[in-house]
Amino acid sequence: MLTKSARRLAGLFVSAALLSGAAQALPLASVDSACRQLTARLKGVSAKQCQASGLHAAAVASVQGQPILYRDYLASSRRNTPKRILLIGGIHGDELSSVVVAFDWMRRLSAEKFQPFQWRVVPCLNPDGLLKRVPSRVNARGVDLNRNFPTPRWLDLAPRYWETKTRRDPRRWPGPKPASEPETQWLVQQIKSFRPDAIVSVHAPYGVLDFDGPRTPPRKLGFLNLNELGTYPGSLGNYAGVQLGLPVITLELPHAADVPTPSQSARIWSDLLTWLDKNLPKGEPPLYQRLADHNWARSAP
Ligand SMILES: [Zn+2]
Repeated sequence: MLTKSARRLAGLFVSAALLSGAAQALPLASVDSACRQLTARLKGVSAKQCQASGLHAAAVASVQGQPILYRDYLASSRRNTPKRILLIGGIHGDELSSVVVAFDWMRRLSAEKFQPFQWRVVPCLNPDGLLKRVPSRVNARGVDLNRNFPTPRWLDLAPRYWETKTRRDPRRWPGPKPASEPETQWLVQQIKSFRPDAIVSVHAPYGVLDFDGPRTPPRKLGFLNLNELGTYPGSLGNYAGVQLGLPVITLELPHAADVPTPSQSARIWSDLLTWLDKNLPKGEPPLYQRLADHNWARSAP
């Protein structure tokens, strides 16, 4: 027998699955070409480094046909079931430093001899925004992907928030409907299929650390101190943290263009690994994982 909250969470996945059933474009560019285009905008990441980093193109593409690149890293030991971490940079295309930091941490993951977690790294979820002549926060259709996730009562709350609280800020348009964008749909599918135990999302430029979901948040990671900013209709923190019950760590780097120094980046990374090691629950998987195993086609309300 499912509890009321389990039924409500099931609805989140059911609606996301229906939304993602829409026809999706295939990537038009190869990984090599995508690497060349992306790294032309990034300080300190060469096309060669990107091309050699083992990235794959997702089966679906951005609005403009750019591949969404990702890479999995397995835990060095398979003895215990490793915890799974989803790391995302560049949800906002004008936060270039977040993409550079994701590449830096991919380099560390490749070099790490002992690595206890299983990672899926998406260095740039919004390639269209990053590749615009002037990089933009929003995607090619002008949607703020971080307001487009299918949170409860989205159709009511997300447009109202945009109109009243942001005064129709074009940088924060949540889109025409929940998960309307291929980039959002793809990430929702990744959460469902990869089943992360925690999500780390890198942003800029507020210079703080934000947290949604269960567990005691880290007080600081490197030079970033905890400052919980609250959740918004359609945000990833709201969708995955509040609704699905996953820890969502949001790192807000202090500058969108300037990247942290190598030692600052290394310190954030090492504090992050320590927090993940101490705070992810041993044993019982989060509620949403049990829900994903259930046959919702027959029992969803
Ligand atoms: Zn951002």
